[in-house]
Amino acid sequence: MNTHLVPDVLISEVGPRDGLQSVKATMPTANKFKWIDALVAAGLREIEVCSFVPAKHLPQMADAAEVVRHALKHPGVTVMALVPNLRGAKEALRANVHKLTIPVSASAAHSLANVRKTREEMIEEVRAIVRLRDEIAPGVKIEAGIATAFGCTLQGEVPEGDVVWMASQCIAAGADESGLSDTTGMANPAQVRRLFHKVRAAIGDKTGAAHMHNTRGLGLANCLAAYDAGVRTFDSSLGGLGGCPYAPGASGNVVTEDLVFMFAAMGISTGVDIAKLIAAREPLKAGLPGEPIYGMTPEAGLPKGWSQCASSIGLVPGA
Ligand code: ZN
Repeated sequence: MNTHLVPDVLISEVGPRDGLQSVKATMPTANKFKWIDALVAAGLREIEVCSFVPAKHLPQMADAAEVVRHALKHPGVTVMALVPNLRGAKEALRANVHKLTIPVSASAAHSLANVRKTREEMIEEVRAIVRLRDEIAPGVKIEAGIATAFGCTLQGEVPEGDVVWMASQCIAAGADESGLSDTTGMANPAQVRRLFHKVRAAIGDKTGAAHMHNTRGLGLANCLAAYDAGVRTFDSSLGGLGGCPYAPGASGNVVTEDLVFMFAAMGISTGVDIAKLIAAREPLKAGLPGEPIYGMTPEAGLPKGWSQCASSIGLVPGA
């Protein structure tokens, strides 16, 4: 029984960054604080709270430094920020984040369209960010998130060799870990299992998070496939915030509530309290009135006789 020790898997909540930057409305700073507090109260121990990008491009993230300052008040929580380049990394390190995540596309076409850099140029950017980190904040962890790892809306198929190469290059450039992102919602479980095995064969336990999208309803299946391939960190977003523009009515990110439910029901501990997690939807809704949020577990409720304690030691819920 390890509920009071280290959980079996780490749920990395990305809603305040990935979710908020995908919606049109800007959540007021005070509401972001309340939402983050509720996420922490539910037991989440890693939260991607913002991205450091010019406010003229993403007004939703204009208060990034302030949000980091607030999140840092919670002891034991890893405060993460997304940085697309060295300039963003400088600001994030100045704000004292614990961990940086750098999106790096495996698709050559997506890389050029998204950040106007070739993949080789992005690897150099990772190297420059690592150098800066080593100089001014050596304790900060750096993750390279391989975007479009499972397919690209611009170039279609992304060769698996390209994904493994990108992940290996980022680690060689000094990143602490490299995870895979299904940016476009094209992944399937067989592919996820195969590709994570290949990446693990190349970079071992520097293999990072699975960042899955639910665009075509395969988000949870893909997370489970990643788990089978040895992945133990999963990105997800409360209420699946961050609608995918290519699939109206479908959520973008995997729904944290459903992901936690799946693992808990299987006896895999997450350290997260589902009831409190569901309660954390209230400050989210209050901060983004009218924005659709998703989740099967919050709608259905917990099964009769559900006990998280029983489930976390592997007993059948309700038994
Ligand atoms: Zn996402």
